[in-house]
This record gives sequence, C-alpha cells and structure tokens, in this order.
Amino acid sequence: MKVRNILGISGGKDSAALAIYLKQKYPNLKIEYYNSDTGCELAETELLIDRLSAYLGNIKRLRAAEDSPEPTPFEHFLKAAGGFLPSPQARWCTKKMKLDEFERYVGDDYAVSYVGIRGDEDRDGYVSSKPNIQSVFPFRRNIWSVDVINKFLHKENQEQIIDIYDKLCPEGLMKEDLMDVLKKPITKQFYYSKKLNALLDIDVKMFNHAVFEYLKTTDYPVGHLDSFPLIDNDEVLVKEDIFRLLRDSGVGVPSYYEEIPFEVDGKTGTYCRSRSGCYFCFFQQKIEWIWLYEQHPDLYEKAMSFEKDGYTWIQNESLADLIKPERIRQVKLDIIKRQETNKNKNKGTSLAELFGDEYVCANCFI
Ligand code: SF4
Repeated sequence: MKVRNILGISGGKDSAALAIYLKQKYPNLKIEYYNSDTGCELAETELLIDRLSAYLGNIKRLRAAEDSPEPTPFEHFLKAAGGFLPSPQARWCTKKMKLDEFERYVGDDYAVSYVGIRGDEDRDGYVSSKPNIQSVFPFRRNIWSVDVINKFLHKENQEQIIDIYDKLCPEGLMKEDLMDVLKKPITKQFYYSKKLNALLDIDVKMFNHAVFEYLKTTDYPVGHLDSFPLIDNDEVLVKEDIFRLLRDSGVGVPSYYEEIPFEVDGKTGTYCRSRSGCYFCFFQQKIEWIWLYEQHPDLYEKAMSFEKDGYTWIQNESLADLIKPERIRQVKLDIIKRQETNKNKNKGTSLAELFGDEYVCANCFI
C-alpha cells in the first residue's frame, strides 16, 4: 500500500528546520512539502518559503477559496462569517484556511504527517481526526502521537505489547527492567506519561521498534510501511539545533526574528515578531502589534480596516487606540522593564523568550 510522507511548512523556524533535517538525514524518504497560503503572511515569511523551496525542491502552495473574487482567502471567509473576526476562542481561520485544505489535499490516501515540535517543548501538535493521517514528531524523544501511545500502553493491549518486547529484546538485565515496567499497571500514581518515560529511559530505539510492530497490527499509516527509518533515530533536537540547521543549510533564520532596537524616555529595548503566521494574528502580543505598526504600517492599517461593528483583534482595545502615542510609550516601557528583569536574572530577553512558545497553536507557528 502506498503511504505518503507529508510535511507542512508553516513559515516558522521549526517546520523549516525539520524539512532540512529530514532531507539531510533521510535523502531517500520521498517527502511532499506543502504550505497553506493564506495570502496574509509577512514578506519575511514568503522569503523564507522561497529559500526553502530552492533548498528542498518544491513546496506545494495550498490556497483555500481559490475561485473567490475576494483578494485573499482570509477576506473570503471573513465575509462569509459576517465580519466576525477569529479569536483564540473562535479560531475559524486555522480550520478554514489550513486544516480543511490539508485534509482535502491528502484525501483518502494513507499519510504520515511530520510535525516539528521540538524536544524542549511540552505540547502536542495537530493530530488529525482522520484515521488515514498519522502525525509523527521526529525532534522529540517520543516520536509518536498521544493517541498511539494511549493505545500502545492501554491495559487491553498489555499482553500483546509484552509479547512484542519479548520477541524483540535479547535476554538480559535490560529485558528484566523492561518487563517490570510493562507489567506494572497504569494507576493514578503510575500514569501513561510515567510509563512511557520509564520505557524510553531504558531504550528509545527498542521502544520505537515495539511501537512499529504494534502499529503493524492496526490500520495506522505507519503500520502499512515495510520499514520506517525514524525508529532507529534517538536524536532529540532543541532550539539551538533549529537555529544551527537553518544557518548551516544556508536557508537562514527568518528575518522577522531579528531584534530591532527602540528607545523610550532614554531607555532602550528591542522588538521583533516572535513567530510566523498571518500579520494580523490575534495570538501576537501588543508589542508585536506595535512592531507591525512601525515596521509594516500598510499591513497595520489593513488589519485596522477589518475591525468593524465592535469586533477587535485584541480584547477590549482597538488597534486605533493601541497606536496612540501614550499607549505605545506604555507598551514599550513595559517590555523594556521585562527585558531588564530577565537580563538581571540571566534569562533570555528576546520576545520569543519573554513570551514562550507554549500558548500558541502548533499549526500556524511551528
Ligand atoms: S496565524 Fe493566527 S490568524 Fe492566521 S490562521 Fe493561524 S491562528 Fe489564525
């Protein structure tokens, strides 16, 4: 059975680095790269996609509502939503512009979707509701998605998993340790993630081989493969590795990450855009909106034009109010203060470090 290998390029650093990593490490793995073209990305993101395209070969651009008379897919769906702006609670933008298009692109084919969540992050990425699409996370120690792990470790499958390990693992101390862990039931004290980590602590590759054997008894896409090279890889990649891959490959770090200095009341701070995504993304922080206003005033104005009938991008504050001089001053002073505090604690002071990566969605920003 044909199983497709698919990797979504969001325009963020992690998916770009994953594409580079897999191409370097597994040159024979035939991967289809795609990007969801919202028509609303920054020029810096488009540049990264162009460079990556030159490095990888080809990136398919998926564009929702292609036949619409509206200038961008976003404007098409905004009109259909009656001007109701998306928000963290009502995120129709990701679904309409990205997930639906992706699932349409895959259709009913079996597919492995590679997701660039890093080894130093504690979150899960998109897991498709469609059983023919399986997500795999090559940068993490545990490369499998949560649904696979829950089935693999479920008490109903305990005998089967013990049997798989028994066949895979040579006699010896390691096998004894593994059997101890495998026979221990899941309880409130010894829950799924603890059992998972106990098995990974003993041997990551052995764990991957056991999961692969288990998947062969299921309808998961990976289970339909004759071999899966990632099961013999126990590398874990963290943020520094991502930047190194981007620089060493010549693709480069997206320029929206470049910290630009600013000055208020004689004090200096820096700002940038901390992640990829639509220029008007409601996940961005106020200082990022101000970065947009000062670095891309045309896009800020465009974002302002979508604020109508009481709908605003930021809760309780319109973009018109945010750029009043006193408000800009306040926001910048607040960031300077946070950057100074972090500096005194010897912590990172870039915006990505101040805000963290955790609170945003994995689909748009990886
Ligand atoms: S980047 Fe933000 S606005 Fe754009 S689709 Fe993703 S969540 Fe929505």
